[in-house]
This record gives sequence, structure tokens and C-alpha cells, in this order.
Amino acid sequence: MLRYDVIIVGAGPSGIFTALELIRRNSNKKILIIEKGRRIDQRHCPKEERKVCVSCKPYCHITTGFSGAGAFSDGKLSLSYEVGGDLPKIIGNDRAEELIGYTDKIYLEFGADTKIEGIGHNEEIKDIRRKAIEAGLKLIDCPIRHLGTEKAHEIYLKVQNFLLDLRVEMKFNKLVEDLIIEEGKVKGVKIADSKTKNEQGIIYGDKVIIATGRKGANWLKDMCIKHEIHHVAGTVDIGVRVEVRNEIMEKVNDVLYESKLIGYPEPFRNKVRSFCQNPGGFVSQENYDNDLAIVNGHSYKDKKSNNTNLAILSSHNFSEPFNQPIQYGKKVAELVNMLGNGKILVQRFGDILDGKRTWQKELEQSNVKPTLPDAVAGDITSAIPYRPMMNIINFVKSMNTVVPGFASKETLLYGPEIKFYSNKINMDESFNTNIEGLHCLGDSSGWTRGLMMASVMGVLMGRIISEEK
Ligand SMILES: Cc1cc2nc3c(=O)[nH]c(=O)nc-3n(C[C@H](O)[C@H](O)[C@H](O)COP(=O)(O)OP(=O)(O)OC[C@H]3O[C@@H](n4cnc5c(N)ncnc54)[C@H](O)[C@@H]3O)c2cc1C
Repeated sequence: MLRYDVIIVGAGPSGIFTALELIRRNSNKKILIIEKGRRIDQRHCPKEERKVCVSCKPYCHITTGFSGAGAFSDGKLSLSYEVGGDLPKIIGNDRAEELIGYTDKIYLEFGADTKIEGIGHNEEIKDIRRKAIEAGLKLIDCPIRHLGTEKAHEIYLKVQNFLLDLRVEMKFNKLVEDLIIEEGKVKGVKIADSKTKNEQGIIYGDKVIIATGRKGANWLKDMCIKHEIHHVAGTVDIGVRVEVRNEIMEKVNDVLYESKLIGYPEPFRNKVRSFCQNPGGFVSQENYDNDLAIVNGHSYKDKKSNNTNLAILSSHNFSEPFNQPIQYGKKVAELVNMLGNGKILVQRFGDILDGKRTWQKELEQSNVKPTLPDAVAGDITSAIPYRPMMNIINFVKSMNTVVPGFASKETLLYGPEIKFYSNKINMDESFNTNIEGLHCLGDSSGWTRGLMMASVMGVLMGRIISEEK
């Protein structure tokens, strides 16, 4: 019978930083990480050669495998407790700030760039903030350490090898399909082969830590219902990826690297924010298991495009009679995908205001050339519901005050960009759920939405376990 002290489900940043902190604290716990995807050195997105997304089966290599969604991410570490999710609401702002500093040092030890973006330039930042106030937007101060997509890969490879060289066992291409819970206590997990889905038995553990990321949010929702794990319905972010020429964003790129702006546009006053800005970056596609094509963006440390992309996301909550934010987000994504024949849709902002679709040949008339070449020109307004669409349009117009030219006719809007954070697992400050021995971390827990905060949650989990008698 296989038995471990700690079973970590998912090798994303939150899972691997749990193991890392246990090792750093000389814990003698027997640790197992179970990961649906491959080792990081075997992860490869075929799009690099084929130029189009081939919807890899059984999973997308961009989001699945060692280091999770972090491997091919832009690797922007947000060094502020105000960014990256609601974890500070559980552990407090000061604790979160202290842990960000500690976790950042670990990234530096594994080779992260020592440069921090978004600090200094006080006069220019004041000017940007003045314009944000004029536009009714709040500018969040957030220093950023930019790993870059290729360097993020290298850093996480070092982390993987470090953990393997020590005593952390890892099972790749294995899927946790169910939790074993008896009389309110977790006993272990039931695993299956990721490809064949054939059951491969039960692994027992005193502690099970679920760190399955955004992609695992739906599975975790099912587990919550089946095993009565206490949770509340969370938020779903519906949005688009905006792409403009670097010249438009030059000032904010140079001064802030990433402009984190929040607004509550009329008439709905939902929270709308800019997110994940990639100067000289590339728009990308990620595929969810159920075949949904979702847009994202990233940037390399060295290879640069002529464009900057960023997400604009509108947050939505539901209560009753409907409280299924993941389902809502999926339906919106399905509709946008349907109009794009399974591909990401792209539309010019001017066409949206003119009430017409964009035609492929019209994309060639602009200064901005799409960095996602297989995106299909069309009409995202026919698929994104009125409320989020109006929020996005009004936010883009407000951004124009801060960044002149942002709301120009040729600005590209790609869809769908949906963030499935959803269910928030009810937990105390030691990440205890109502099931003894069961903890939830990172994006799947609903409490984080970024690399740094997910890593911080993992570090804290490692500390808590190492201090237990
Ligand atoms: C393209 C892209 C760019 C991004 N850029 C940035 C950025 O610049 N800065 C930033 O802060 N954030 C960024 N993010 C978000 C960031 O990557 C995530 O917030 C972070 O990785 C969350 O960490 P996590 O540990 O919670 O989950 P994840 O990193 O999602 O890892 C979860 C892991 O669990 C595995 N898993 C899922 N279900 C199961 C199961 N049932 N059994 C076994 N294994 C399972 C998955 O395969 C995955 O490897 C980006 C995301 C993407 C997709």
C-alpha cells in the first residue's frame, strides 16, 4: 500500500513551493506530488513549429505539467499584496507582504533577474496617476520582477531538478480523479492515467493538498459537491485581450512596465481592470480540456514584437437562483469560440463602435499587426453578453485618457479571455478546510490569481506543515 505524509495534487507554483518550503525547513515528511502533465523538460507547445494551435490531447502543454500555468507564462512576479488575489484577507496584509519578500528571494536564488520594474520614475508615475484620476480609474502601485517566458521555464526546471535530487517523489501523467474521505477526514486519493483515463488505484496520505490551478477549478467544484467541502461561489472574469502598437503604450511600459488600473464604469459599475500587460509581447492561445480556446498573452525577455497586449477583465458574481460562475464563463467562451470556428476571435475597436464585424483583409490596413496569426477576424460583440461588453467598451474609452491612442479604431480586441477562479474554499489561516487533513491552495482554491500569490500560499502551507507536531 502506497502511503505518504503529504500528497500534493498539481505541480503548479502553489504545489511546488509547498514541497520546496518543507525541504528548506528540513522537514522529514514523505512527500508525493501527483501531476496530470509531464516533467517541465518534456513540455512542448507544437505551435512553435506549426504556427497554429493544434488543441493537444489529452491536455494543453501551456497550462499542464511541472510548474503548471507558470511554465510558459510571462513570468511577471507581482511584488505587492494588493495584486494576485484575496489571500491577504485570510493571512493579513503584513504577513502577505513579508511572505512575498521571502518567496521573491527564493526566485532570485533560482536565477530570477535582479531588476525590478515599476519603481522610481516618481514624476512620470504622478502624471499617469493624475490622468487615471481624471478618467475615474485607480492606479495600483505594484513593483514587478519580470522573469520572461524563456527564463521562467529555466527557473522552474532548476526547481524541478532540485526537488527531484532531494527526496520529493513525483508522479507525472497521473490524474487525481477522486478524493478518499471517511468520517470527515481525508485518507488519500484515487488516481488514473492522464491519457487512457484507466484507474490506477489509491494512494494514501495523512494530508492531501489540492493545488490544481484554474484548470482544476471545475473538478474541485465537483469534489466540493460530492464530499461536502465547504465553499462559496466565487467570481468569474469575462474579458478580452487588447493589442496596440508599442508606440501607444511607450510611456506606461517604460515607467510602470504594467499599468494596473481598476474602474467601475457606468451604467453597471462592475469592477473592471487591466491585467497582465506584455510590452513587446505576443498574444497566445491556451486550450482547456473541454476544448475551449481561451486567449492570453506573454512576453519574452529578449525576443520582442512591435506590440503591447494586456487583458481587460470584467468581474461578475451570481447568487440566486443561479450561482455557477464557471458555467457562465464556459457558455460565453463556447459562444465566442463558435463564432470563431473554434479559434480565437479578433475585432478592431473601431468596428465595434461602428456596429460591424471585422474582415480578415481589414486587419492588414492597420499599423498594428496581430501577434496571434491564427486568430479569426469577426464579431465578438455577438457573443459576449451586453453587460460585460459594455463594461469593456467603456473601460477602453477611459483608458484613452491615461494612454492616448488606446481607444483608436485599429486597436485589436481578442476574445474570449475568461478567468475561471470561481469557487472559494472556506479555510482558516492555516488553510484547514472542514475536512480534516485536506487543504486547498493557489488558483483552484479561489484565493489566488497569479504566480507570486500562488507561490506564497505554497510557502505558507509548507511552513504550517513543517511546524506541526
Ligand atoms: C499564458 C499564461 C500567462 C500567465 N502569465 C502570468 C504572469 O505573467 N504573472 C502571473 O502572476 N500569473 C500569470 N499567469 C497565471 C499563473 O500562471 C497562475 O496564477 C499560477 O500558475 C497558479 O498557480 P497554481 O499552483 O495555483 O496552479 P497552476 O499553475 O495552474 O498548476 C496546477 C497544476 O495542477 C495540475 N492538475 C490539475 N488538475 C489535476 C488533477 N486532477 N490531478 C493532477 N494534477 C492536476 C495541472 O496540470 C497543473 O500543472 C499566467 C497564466 C497563463 C496561462
